[in-house]
Amino acid sequence: MDFSAGQPDFHSPEAAKSAGQEAIVENRTRYTATAGIEELRTAIVDRFRNKRELRYETDQVLVSPGAKASLYFACMALLDAGDEVLVPSPYWTSYPEQIRLTGAEPVFVPCSEERGFKLSAESLDRAITPRTKVLLLNYPSNPTGACYDRNELEALGQVCLSRNLWVIADEIYSELLYDDRCFASIASLGPEMSARTVVIDGMSKTFAMTGWRVGYAAGPRELIAAMSKLQSHTTSNATSISQWASVAALSMGDEELLAHRREFERRRQAVVGRLEALPGVRCVRPAGAFYAFPNVSGLFHGSVTSGQDLSCFLLERANVAVVPGEAFGSPDHIRISYACSLEQIDDGMTRIGEALAELAAK
Ligand code: PLP
Repeated sequence: MDFSAGQPDFHSPEAAKSAGQEAIVENRTRYTATAGIEELRTAIVDRFRNKRELRYETDQVLVSPGAKASLYFACMALLDAGDEVLVPSPYWTSYPEQIRLTGAEPVFVPCSEERGFKLSAESLDRAITPRTKVLLLNYPSNPTGACYDRNELEALGQVCLSRNLWVIADEIYSELLYDDRCFASIASLGPEMSARTVVIDGMSKTFAMTGWRVGYAAGPRELIAAMSKLQSHTTSNATSISQWASVAALSMGDEELLAHRREFERRRQAVVGRLEALPGVRCVRPAGAFYAFPNVSGLFHGSVTSGQDLSCFLLERANVAVVPGEAFGSPDHIRISYACSLEQIDDGMTRIGEALAELAAK
């Protein structure tokens, strides 16, 4: 059983598939403008306005081969050797490596489980040094599912403004948020904040389009222009076919996406319920994305002394794959992805329960 997937198990939307096929048939298969076709940048601008109250012009948007590329170009454009980037921990696994590739240094700011894995304004303020240039904020978070409400973002935003920090806001899971919560973007707090923020998003998670490789960034013109230059001399544009497929996906109605979100919400309920029933396991309820991040330190026993050990044990004894918390800077945890069916969740969690009972009896 695979609980390690970082991608939705749904198929890409039919509208996207047809538009991609049409683009091939109609020979829209050449290089595009580096920053992306105008139709896609317009669709992105519309979505930012409608879903997140963010106002951009098309020349403030860069379309990249995946959000990962957008993030990397943002790091490359903003950072110099010796700069520090504050990364709330647990963090998504590529951030530290992308930061290090620029010569800058990731500085991890621990975010406790008791605070729902969320960064507080006080700990942000304390972590800032004269070398700090950027706060990298990801919400809903991979791996914890933690998300900030507007008040919390205002407090963080105040610190960023008063201490002159840039914010890279990775909002790739913003449309996978549960319990009828509304998403607030830190860039929507006002013009001062949006002038220091680059928002990252993409087609992978919301639209189940991981393989198409389309991500995007929106922010101040000069920054987007610098990122565009980097893209121009490295990867050129995102694939033309995928860009046309993305235009269609962004323009389709919300019905299919809402159905996916409701299904993820049911799965979250199932996974968290099963985890809470396991002796020695604690799990903060994820607000969004499709991961649970239980604390498994209560299970450490004998030769199993870390998330990594427990993940190996579960693979060997239960034939269930999870991701060790070490990948996200947190060895007391494991990440369980619920991008799989309710039947698979039931089967996998039963096997995990049996293996853990065996471990406890050792
Ligand atoms: N940001 C986060 C938090 C992610 O979890 C991922 C993918 O796992 C990405 C960015 C990259 O997404 P993309 O497929 O668009 O490169």
